[in-house]
Amino acid sequence: MRVVLLGPPGAGKGTQALKIAKEFDIPHISTGDIFRQNLRDNTELGKLAKEYMDKGLLVPDEVTNRIVEDRLEKEDCKKGFLLDGYPRNIPQAEELDKFLEERGHSLTAVINIQVEREALIDRITGRRVCPVCGATYHIKTSPPKVDNVCDKCGSELIQRSDDKLESVVKRLEVYEKETKPLIDYYTKKGILVNIDGNKSIDEVFEDIKKALLGDRRNDIH
Ligand code: ADP
Ligand code: AMP
Repeated sequence: MRVVLLGPPGAGKGTQALKIAKEFDIPHISTGDIFRQNLRDNTELGKLAKEYMDKGLLVPDEVTNRIVEDRLEKEDCKKGFLLDGYPRNIPQAEELDKFLEERGHSLTAVINIQVEREALIDRITGRRVCPVCGATYHIKTSPPKVDNVCDKCGSELIQRSDDKLESVVKRLEVYEKETKPLIDYYTKKGILVNIDGNKSIDEVFEDIKKALLGDRRNDIH
C-alpha cells in the first residue's frame, strides 16, 4: 500500500506514522526527519534545509523531490510506503503522481488528519523529541516517564528549533497557503480520507487502521 499522511504541522502525522508503519510493515518516509538527520550529520543538504526550516518555509521543490524519489527507488519501498510531510504543495503532488505513474503505480490512500488551530499550537509548542532515536513526546499529553529523558533510549529530549512560537505561526501560514490545497487535489482523485485528529492517539490510530484496511481490500497494486 502506498499512503500519504496529510495534515497541518502538529496534527499527529509523525506519531501516527510510527504506528501505521509497524502495523502494515511499510517504510515510514518523513522529509522533515530526513532533513533533520542531514542537519545532525552536518551535510550540505542539512545546511541548506536549515535555512528554510528555521524560518518555517518549505525547502525548495527540486531538492525535496529528488530526495523523496531517491528514497522511493530503494528496495524496501517495493512493498509500499508511508509518506509523512510530503507532498506539501501542488507541484510536489504532481511530481509524485508522475513518478509513480511512470512506474505503473499510484497512491492507495491519502489520510488527512484534521485538528483545530488552537490545539495545533499547544501540540507543537509542547512537543519534545529525542534527537537520537526520534521518539516524540508532549509535555502535557504524552510526557516521558522521567522528566526530559527518552523512555526508549535514555537520551535527553530537546525542543525542535522550529517549534518555537514564531516559527510555528509561519508554518501554519505556509500550510494554509501551500499545503491545504492538496485536500481538494486528492479529493478530486477520490483517494482522500478525512480523520478526526482531535481524538486520543489510540483512537486516531484505530480510525486510520479501519480506513486503510477498507482501502486494502480494493488495493490491486
Ligand atoms: P506532526 O508530525 O503532524 O507535526 P506530531 O506527531 O509530532 O505531529 O505531534 C505533535 C505533538 O502532538 C507531539 O507532541 C505529540 O506527542 C502530540 N500528539 C500527537 N497526536 C496527539 C493526539 N491525538 N492527542 C494529543 N496529542 C497528540
Ligand atoms: P516536519 O518535520 O514535517 O514538520 O517538517 C519540518 C520542516 O522541514 C518544514 O517546516 C520544512 O521547512 C521542511 N520540510 C519537510 N517536508 C517538506 C516538504 N515536503 N517540502 C518542503 N519542505 C519540507
